[in-house]
Amino acid sequence: MQQFTLGLTGGIGSGKSAASQWFESQGIVVVDADIVAREVVEKGQAALLAIEQYFGAWVLNSEGELNRRALREHIFKYPEARKALESITHPAIRHSIIEQLNAAQSPYAILVSPLLFETNQHQLTQRTLLIDASEQLQIQRASERDLQNIEQIKQIMAAQMSRQQKQQLADDIVLNDGLLSHLHDQLLPLHQDYLQFAQQIQS
Ligand code: ADP
Repeated sequence: MQQFTLGLTGGIGSGKSAASQWFESQGIVVVDADIVAREVVEKGQAALLAIEQYFGAWVLNSEGELNRRALREHIFKYPEARKALESITHPAIRHSIIEQLNAAQSPYAILVSPLLFETNQHQLTQRTLLIDASEQLQIQRASERDLQNIEQIKQIMAAQMSRQQKQQLADDIVLNDGLLSHLHDQLLPLHQDYLQFAQQIQS
């Protein structure tokens, strides 16, 4: 059965998780690409084995888990290694996302990803929603949430697609610049539209 999938994105600190939580409270299944990316390299997963075979045993720690720090440093030194790593992880992530979306038992499903457009994950969705916020608000929220320093947050923002580009690509945009209740008020009519799209696809 074909299912309506919404792609939900936004820069760091924009309010993606806050929006996802609201959709979940409405009974909508949310698949989080960041969580899937961690799951596919857990101990015992085929992608972790492939990473070990390609890079060598040094990518694992004494527990047999991925040594993220060592791998991150390696990739930083050797840009080609990033491509090799992504050629292993990206198909595994995509496969798992599709599986989880297909298993979703809700009127429609959501794929939330900070890099929805950057990694072409939007191709797995029929419509996209951008949670938008000013860069100043993004920095303020992300630094309060993670106690990360502002430089780190700015680095993450610089690696993400610009706010303007995302605004051009997204079908729907919600500006999350007020209270959480204001965010929820803006999500409700969209949710109603998505329920209708879902029905149209299925009929
Ligand atoms: P993202 O998932 O896009 O990185 P989050 O949804 O985690 O962003 O939001 C970042 C932080 O800001 C969280 O602590 C969240 O609770 C808070 N937050 C998000 N939207 C609002 C809002 N409208 N008002 C107040 N706090 C907010």
